[in-house]
Amino acid sequence: MKYVLVTGGVVSGLGKGVTASSVGVVLKACGLRVTSIKIDPYLNTDAGTMSPFEHGEVFVLDDGGEVDLDLGNYERFLDVTLTRDNNITTGKIYQSVLEKERRGDYLGKTVQVVPHITDAIKDWIESVAIIPVDGEEGPADVCVIELGGTVGDIESMPFIEALRQLSFSVGQDNFCLIHVSLIPVLGVVGEQKTKPTQHSVRELRALGLTPHLLACRSAQPLLDNTKEKLSQFCHVPVGNILNIRDVPNIWHVPLLLRNQNAHHAILKQLNLLSVAAPPDLH
Ligand code: ADP
Repeated sequence: MKYVLVTGGVVSGLGKGVTASSVGVVLKACGLRVTSIKIDPYLNTDAGTMSPFEHGEVFVLDDGGEVDLDLGNYERFLDVTLTRDNNITTGKIYQSVLEKERRGDYLGKTVQVVPHITDAIKDWIESVAIIPVDGEEGPADVCVIELGGTVGDIESMPFIEALRQLSFSVGQDNFCLIHVSLIPVLGVVGEQKTKPTQHSVRELRALGLTPHLLACRSAQPLLDNTKEKLSQFCHVPVGNILNIRDVPNIWHVPLLLRNQNAHHAILKQLNLLSVAAPPDLH
């Protein structure tokens, strides 16, 4: 199984869900089978009891799972049918660990965030990633994982640590990290600012994860010197810096990615260039 992890930095609501779904669309257009997992680092076990005013629509899956609306994006973008287990929350993970603890499965050991919560996260991801969701038999080729929230949040720390361990255990060729960030423009100076992205990449690297691609959200197209600066300070090749500017319709985002050859950079990282076809998006 190959994993593409999508994280976000700087601010929330950047479009991680749309970026992750669009990455899935582009990979699918290259002939790969794609599944997805959404991680929500909140304590609610699911989105069913959360206020739509605060959280947006609750998406109900075919199996009755009440989940984050991003799962709806995944189903629509990728034409898949996900299960309630494709949405991981902190609440679900703690519930499963606490049930095991009450059953005595830990044999008297002290149950801790590391390794028990992080192991539960890794096991959950690995077992859900192989569930077929596209009506075909056998596991998908690639699992796109979206980590909700912003890197550096206390809530997401166990997930970041679990994903760091996962990236190490699956190996370089099977793990691609895309970090979605914001490039603001300061009104008075009129300059595209890279510092917030530099800081969030530094934070990610301090936690043991290095982004292979940057997906930069901006109001206007990124300038060449902005890309060069990002490359130099974030340790990401210029060719792997994608620009996801504001578009009038989110269905344009897969095309933006394809036009910037995002699939090439991702497939190269995942060592899939030889098996994938050129993207067929229409
Ligand atoms: P996150 O997962 O980071 O919270 P979402 O993917 O849910 O963010 O997107 C937040 C909002 O921004 C959604 O309403 C989405 O339609 C919108 N959005 C995302 N990407 C773009 C884009 N490139 N241009 C315009 N709107 C976008």
